[in-house]
Amino acid sequence: MSFISKLIVVTIPLVPKPIVGYFARPYIAGEALSDGVRVVKELNARGIMATMDVLGESVNSREETLDMRRQCEAVLHAINEHKLDANLSIKPTQMGLSIDPAYCEENLRVLLDIARGYDNFVRIDMEDHPYTDSTLTMYKNLRRDYGKHVGVVLQAYLRRTDADLRDLMADGKTNIRLCKGIYVEPEEIAFKKREEVQENFKKLNELGLRDGVYIGIATHDDVLLEHGIETVEALKLKKEEYEFQMLLGVRPKRRDEIVAQGHRLRVYVPFGDQWYAYSTRRLKENPSMAMHIIKAILHLNT
Ligand SMILES: Cc1cc2nc3c(=O)[nH]c(=O)nc-3n(C[C@H](O)[C@H](O)[C@H](O)COP(=O)(O)OP(=O)(O)OC[C@H]3O[C@@H](n4cnc5c(N)ncnc54)[C@H](O)[C@@H]3O)c2cc1C
Repeated sequence: MSFISKLIVVTIPLVPKPIVGYFARPYIAGEALSDGVRVVKELNARGIMATMDVLGESVNSREETLDMRRQCEAVLHAINEHKLDANLSIKPTQMGLSIDPAYCEENLRVLLDIARGYDNFVRIDMEDHPYTDSTLTMYKNLRRDYGKHVGVVLQAYLRRTDADLRDLMADGKTNIRLCKGIYVEPEEIAFKKREEVQENFKKLNELGLRDGVYIGIATHDDVLLEHGIETVEALKLKKEEYEFQMLLGVRPKRRDEIVAQGHRLRVYVPFGDQWYAYSTRRLKENPSMAMHIIKAILHLNT
């Protein structure tokens, strides 16, 4: 970890919540479902699709899980009611994966029944490595019953991902979001060098797209965006056979360029009252924003 990253990890918990909120504003739609709906409508009006995420992870009780599930159910109903071009993303630990994988799967089935009823889709996000196996097993179970209505995420920084992708491809029609991966993982299981992660991302993306995997190419990295565009063009894919994905508030100009080039692009729209944990994670990723926060603290203290 670089010096600046270490500094950020240490200082962010000391930053007053309203300041984190101020700097995190571009990355979060707001606290309420209505905020999420408003932002998705704005994106849809610009020809951009969305995936909605109720903020919250590592839910530790069945009560909290149920509350989270109800909020996700409300998102699916709202997407239908407002005719949004959007689907739902969920973190498996929000649905109880750390409590009991079977319980998590049950909760996902409730959401998938609703999604299928609306001909919509649920994306199972990927969390840190203790959950990789159970998440992929659950995806395979659900794919058998819900087919095109469910997808999962693969992380290019994990050394195992090549084998995971091949395993999924051998087992049926696959829908993945391919991203670099956001968690701090040990070197034994994860590529650490930027170039290594990029190379693996390119290799996986090409492998999947060639084999007819539907890939949400989730990156803001120009090297990978260029490679993604070149690959879909070389394979002469129809625009319904893949999509690009970006996070709300990150590189909106580049996002608009990709859409203007005729590619489909989906923005991850997080909202909810648990915005603080999400924001601090995002801010840790982006040193230039964190520098603003550090400056703000110094200013407040003088
Ligand atoms: C739609 C979507 C869903 C995701 N889902 C998951 C998931 O389920 N599991 C998981 O582990 N990871 C997930 N991620 C995160 C992903 O793994 C990366 O951590 C993240 O996208 C940054 O990697 P990058 O490819 O954009 O490249 P980077 O090299 O990190 O970024 C390229 C450039 O984009 C800009 N940028 C990137 N991130 C930010 C930011 N937060 N704030 C401001 N600018 C930024 C910077 O200018 C940076 O130089 C998701 C990412 C996206 C886009």
